[in-house]
Amino acid sequence: MEERMEGKKVINMIKAKLGNGEKLQLWNEAWNGEDILKHKYPRLFNLETEKNATVPSRLSINGGNWKWRRTVREGREKEELESLQSEIGKRSLNNEIDRWWIPSSPGDVGEGRPRRNRFKYMWDRSIPIKTNILNWRVARGRIPVRIVLAKMGINTQNQNCPFCEIEPETIEHVFLGCNITQELWRFVGAWWNIGIPYFKDVMEVFKWTEKLSKSSII
Ligand SMILES: [Zn+2]
Repeated sequence: MEERMEGKKVINMIKAKLGNGEKLQLWNEAWNGEDILKHKYPRLFNLETEKNATVPSRLSINGGNWKWRRTVREGREKEELESLQSEIGKRSLNNEIDRWWIPSSPGDVGEGRPRRNRFKYMWDRSIPIKTNILNWRVARGRIPVRIVLAKMGINTQNQNCPFCEIEPETIEHVFLGCNITQELWRFVGAWWNIGIPYFKDVMEVFKWTEKLSKSSII
């Protein structure tokens, strides 16, 4: 069940937090809650002259800076327009950049899971989707390392790390503690010419990369 939620449906769970809107396409992305506007207002989308229009190019203080290919007709089209105007009229843009995130599922709350599950992983558009999904799974402790598999009752021959074969394979060990991984971190540090701090846990890595991207080193 959980896997299905993580795999198949994960894309549908991404939500946008509206900032300046510049990176968000008004019709094609779920920037306004759950709905994708081209599905909700198909007649208007059909009239739109620029299908990839960004949010700020259409959203104005007066409610809408529309560029239809012809006049909106009375009836269904007019109804869609009124509904759309009242829906997005409440939204306002700010100076922050647009962010993507995946809300924790309701089942996560109060089930005695470790604190990493309360961490809200911010979707990062500058990296590939598969990397975002991996990060998200790391943040939630959902990586099938041997220790986790053993706890799930899946029989693994041994629970040690397949790289060093010395220590138990936990998420922290694979991403931070293992000799091989530390070698990799040193390599990345040299490549980017930055000092890599000591990370206590994977959460610290996310906090660190967030600071790095704010200071635009990457
Ligand atoms: Zn190891």
